[in-house]
Amino acid sequence: MAATAPETTATPGWLDTFLASWRPGTGEPRELHEPATGRALITVSQATPGDVARAAATAAQAQSAWAETSYQERARILRRAAEIYEAHRPEFGAWTQRETGAHRDKMHHEQNFAVQEIHAAATMPSQPYGELVPSAQPERLSMVRRIPVGVVGAITPWNSPSVLGMRVVAPALALGNAVILKPDPQTPICGGAMFEAVFREAGLPDGLLHVVVGGAEVGEAIVTDPNVHIVSFTGSTAAGRRVGELAGRLIKKVSLELGGNNAFVVLDDADVEAAASAGAYSSFQFQGQVCFATGRHIVHRSLAGDYIEALVEKAKRIKLGDPFRDETVDLGPIVNEKQLARVDGIVQRSVDGGARLAVGGTHDGLFYRPTVLADVTRGLPAWTDEIFGPVAPVVAFDTDEEALALANDSDYGLAGGVYSHSISRGLAFARRIRAGMVHVNDQPINDEAVIPFGGMGASGNGSRFGGAANWDEFTQWQWVTVRDEPKSFPYPY
Ligand code: NAD
Repeated sequence: MAATAPETTATPGWLDTFLASWRPGTGEPRELHEPATGRALITVSQATPGDVARAAATAAQAQSAWAETSYQERARILRRAAEIYEAHRPEFGAWTQRETGAHRDKMHHEQNFAVQEIHAAATMPSQPYGELVPSAQPERLSMVRRIPVGVVGAITPWNSPSVLGMRVVAPALALGNAVILKPDPQTPICGGAMFEAVFREAGLPDGLLHVVVGGAEVGEAIVTDPNVHIVSFTGSTAAGRRVGELAGRLIKKVSLELGGNNAFVVLDDADVEAAASAGAYSSFQFQGQVCFATGRHIVHRSLAGDYIEALVEKAKRIKLGDPFRDETVDLGPIVNEKQLARVDGIVQRSVDGGARLAVGGTHDGLFYRPTVLADVTRGLPAWTDEIFGPVAPVVAFDTDEEALALANDSDYGLAGGVYSHSISRGLAFARRIRAGMVHVNDQPINDEAVIPFGGMGASGNGSRFGGAANWDEFTQWQWVTVRDEPKSFPYPY
């Protein structure tokens, strides 16, 4: 038995039925527990490097025929996948909450984005895929066209597994590729099985989508497999660096979407209440376990006192608990003990280093109290590190130039936000922030399927997801010329 799911729903749902015969790997079974309660959730047999090799070989074989499949048929399957996803949202949502400890709002946001990713991808097969180009030889027709990359290896983290998987799977399939998807072992269902169930029901031909569940060893097998032509990795900067090194040696295309330590800047003319609500939301929601969460609050000195006070008040009102079983809960658990120790370590070392603990800094099991750190200085771990926990470090500044230097004082460059009453001032400031996505009068947590999502510096290698960027990720250019008459060459001269 590959997967068993105790205590899911009274009558088995559509996905439960799929899971009963799901065989994701030939390796050891691994029991998964809910972070919120510690209850056993499901047992999933893990994949092995041998499973990866078999999946990649099958995918490479199936991909050629898929690339030749009509654009109408590829679009039809994607549209059908969106319908199936919508039909089973409540069931997928329950798994998402139980696997990740997400609040309902976060779960719904993730599902909305996942569906939008499929809708956007369904339009891609009918778009032009090349252009005619001028040629120095006017008698020949010269064109450039985009062809599928081949087999896409998708490696995703646990924190938003459905949307982060869908932003690869849907456009990659739409453009004629096959996909091997490896979710994090913490989220094998909403990050893995769900995809297989949806696309199988939608009529995707066999061999084009494989889900392999496992950790770093399985991930590295994907990166190094000769039948995998591009690796699309989303996760931590440390793991991304390793993936980049392995892929680089093999001269393999690799897209790295990594961590963040995002700046949220409140200029002196900002509405402090509105800014504090955005600051609290973007540091605390989903326990701060979001790549584009606010990691550094950079607030004008004239507003810093009121801003910190407002954050503290909001932090005190946040209710912790199991968001799956109690609708009144605002904040769930940190995903596991290791991450809890990391968050707490960063907070405690920062306090030891001189930061003032305005609220929080304690936890009950995996439930970490929303924490506000004031008087944070450069060099403290709360300033330099991606925390990935419900912690808001605040720094005060005196001039816009100082605020900009603070915002750019990070190796990361994923997202940012600026609050100001003056749109032109906000826009000018945003242009100088070194980050892939910046919002004026909004906080950094923002995404849409039609925008090119991605970061700079340690947040990624400039790869992008969404909109036109999907063409760059999941196809490659081919130059083709054709002439009426076969050309003869006066050779040897
Ligand atoms: P992680 O790097 O530990 O794991 C991510 C995935 O990579 C998992 O599937 C894991 O099994 C796999 N993996 C780990 N080591 C690997 C290796 N050596 N080779 C191949 N695969 C390997 O990250 P995490 O802790 O699960 O997720 C949190 C991190 O992800 C944070 O840093 C967060 O900022 C980042 N993230 C980034 C984005 C983005 O779009 N930029 C989105 C979400 C999360």
